[in-house]
Amino acid sequence: MNCPVCNHSKPQIAIESQDFSLTQESFTILHCSHCSVRFTSPLPSQEAIGTYYKFIEYISHTDVKEGWMNRLYHTVRTKTLAQKTKWVQSLFTGHKGHLLDIGAGTGAFVHAMKQKGWKVTGLEPDASTRDKAFENYKIHLQSTASIHELPQNEFEVISMWHVLEHVHALKPYLSQCFKSLKQNGRLIIAVPNYTSFDAKYYKKYWAAYDLPRHLYHFSPKSMATLLNELGFEIVSLKPMWYDSFYVSLLSEKYMQSGKIGTLRAGIIGLISNLFALKDASKASSIIYEVKKQSVQDYI
Ligand SMILES: [Zn+2]
Repeated sequence: MNCPVCNHSKPQIAIESQDFSLTQESFTILHCSHCSVRFTSPLPSQEAIGTYYKFIEYISHTDVKEGWMNRLYHTVRTKTLAQKTKWVQSLFTGHKGHLLDIGAGTGAFVHAMKQKGWKVTGLEPDASTRDKAFENYKIHLQSTASIHELPQNEFEVISMWHVLEHVHALKPYLSQCFKSLKQNGRLIIAVPNYTSFDAKYYKKYWAAYDLPRHLYHFSPKSMATLLNELGFEIVSLKPMWYDSFYVSLLSEKYMQSGKIGTLRAGIIGLISNLFALKDASKASSIIYEVKKQSVQDYI
């Protein structure tokens, strides 16, 4: 199997792990020595992947607030939603535009941007989640199947919050983003970073590997390789400060380490953030601000 990003042959086995949250099935994480992307093996097909999302319901797709982990997730989501909205707007001071959110979930981000005066379009693969978005915000999300019907040169911002690692058609999606994004627009991609301190500490238990729902595991280097090949360039990297804590807590849960684990998660999350404070490319999860390469870059 060749690397899904750079097509280099002979990926190495990096980690043997499993689906801790649902099936307990074993999976291998392969590592490309050339571009440093990691990917899940065997890779469940698009038809088979649905089975792996059928636990209680995937947390970001529900508004379930039972259990302290869920409550924490939703508290953090409310906080980060405000930050995301403010930050995306700050990229376009003085004017608003059309936002496309791919993997819109229950619609919280598109709703928040709409309230700030943006025109919004949201894509979401799951029909019942789209219904939920309508129930919550009266927003009609479209199926992600319609991605290749999107208009060209239309959007000021295209966002993918923790989505790219789930997408089978990695390059076709990004190519479509390239076509649909305006020349001076911004593509915003948030993905976990396996080169973070918390990932290195938890190894096979690192919850953001989330096997096999996460098909790819990105490093900043592999993101640059992938995006450059498709005509993009990275403008900036921003750490997602809460993710280190949340992912560490979940990793401790998978290790079944009890109360001491909760305490340790706080410490590991904090250390991870201290590294990220010095260097955003070390963050547990990174928001990549991406633009189209300027014309002179091609020459
Ligand atoms: Zn590669």
